[in-house]
Amino acid sequence: MENIVIIGNGIAGVSAARHIRKLSDKRIIIISGETDYFFSRTALMYVYMGHMKFDHIQPYENWFWEKNRIELVRGYVTKVNPDEKQLLIDGSRAITYDKLIIATGSKPNKFGWPGQDLHGAQGLYSKQDLDLLEVNAPNKEVCKRAVIVGGGLIGIELAEMLRSRDIPVTFLVREDSFWNGVLPSGESKLINEHILEHHIDLRLGTNLKEIVADENGKVKSVIIAETGEELACDMVGLTAGVTPNIDFLKDSGIELGRGVKVNRFLETNIKDVYAIGDCAEQHEAIGNRRPIEAVWYTGRMMGETVAQTICGNQIEYKPGHWFNSAKFLDIEYQTYGWVFSERGMKEYEEHFHWRHAQEKVCITIAFNKENNQFLGINTFGIRMRHEVFDRWLTQEKDVDYVMEHLIDANFDPEFYKNYETEVVSKYNTDFGKSIKMKKKSLKRIFAIG
Ligand SMILES: Cc1cc2nc3c(=O)[nH]c(=O)nc-3n(C[C@H](O)[C@H](O)[C@H](O)COP(=O)(O)OP(=O)(O)OC[C@H]3O[C@@H](n4cnc5c(N)ncnc54)[C@H](O)[C@@H]3O)c2cc1C
Repeated sequence: MENIVIIGNGIAGVSAARHIRKLSDKRIIIISGETDYFFSRTALMYVYMGHMKFDHIQPYENWFWEKNRIELVRGYVTKVNPDEKQLLIDGSRAITYDKLIIATGSKPNKFGWPGQDLHGAQGLYSKQDLDLLEVNAPNKEVCKRAVIVGGGLIGIELAEMLRSRDIPVTFLVREDSFWNGVLPSGESKLINEHILEHHIDLRLGTNLKEIVADENGKVKSVIIAETGEELACDMVGLTAGVTPNIDFLKDSGIELGRGVKVNRFLETNIKDVYAIGDCAEQHEAIGNRRPIEAVWYTGRMMGETVAQTICGNQIEYKPGHWFNSAKFLDIEYQTYGWVFSERGMKEYEEHFHWRHAQEKVCITIAFNKENNQFLGINTFGIRMRHEVFDRWLTQEKDVDYVMEHLIDANFDPEFYKNYETEVVSKYNTDFGKSIKMKKKSLKRIFAIG
């Protein structure tokens, strides 16, 4: 029986295992150094915040794995030897494979800051990081102030987590506005305001110089690079992005860049060795995507795709239109298609931005100014229908069509407020148009694209 070994029990590795099992009778082994069972990494924050217990973020019951003949091995793979088709767990235990899937995810970036490895300095990625956070910041008596370094999605989650226990937070963000390498300025500004309103001490355009230790080797303060200011704190959260977790592959002969290099079939340079999820790096990026996509749903898609290939139906990884969603404190954010920030904007791209006068609600629509084609939308504080935007992107609708039919994308007007009339009216004013919004049509909404 063919023996499939998967390193990593995150969404990518587990999706591959589940789909290989659906398609075949092969022997499947998943190895993980982190936890016995798969859990939802994106929900880690809710455990610290007390909304859920750790068991609740494990999507499958513990009996699921044995029932589906998926063998789970706990340990770190320290070496892979493709010539022998063998790997080593924790430096000693050898396992052989016929096909190997590398799905080892990411690790938090550390940029060589003095003091980055002190007690009290930590990332937020793993179950171990969550446990450590309970030690470093269980409450505001033990942690009188936390400093977070790095203003991305994980940084703002950590800020929300700490604030849920009333811990004062200073948030150091290198950029001059929150996440403005990704978000257009109107949205980034809205999030700056929202962070400040949540009593988070947001310091824009500010870099960490050094983390200072007390006499016991524990975090005592940080020093700000620009001003030399010393800020007393008990915990430092390092959330300046992530990097593929691939150090153990260095001498394996498997081609590495920032991640494990793969082709469109998720194959590495070595026969029978594949890589998926956060640790995989496409030789050439797909469309406007990045060569490494550190997001949940693409990990799942890569797992499903590689399972097909391994089971004899070789298919390319084709992720379709870009989408993503996240939360900035209590503001929901969704993005469909491509809306670039001013820094990354294409020369043909134009934006329409609308923001509600009082509420923290806004949208930005990107379109091609040469032919009016709809390119993408960001929504903040409004929930819209993914399938509708996906279809409009596939059908290459123009922006006027999108405006005319915007009501079709409204998620559920019975429960959500309806902002479309205001949005279309501002669009007409900004672009000298006279679009009249069509009535909502269920037939259109559920039409097969
Ligand atoms: C706090 C947080 C919030 C997030 N929120 C979102 C979100 O809202 N939306 C979104 O799209 N994405 C989000 N992400 C990113 C998302 O979680 C990742 O893209 C996704 O989990 C990657 O899945 P993966 O299977 O590739 O890797 P991982 O989930 O990292 O799993 C890899 C596993 O392999 C193990 N491993 C690594 N090396 C070895 C080894 N040598 N031997 C054995 N085991 C090994 C690791 O310990 C880990 O358990 C978030 C991430 C974090 C940390």
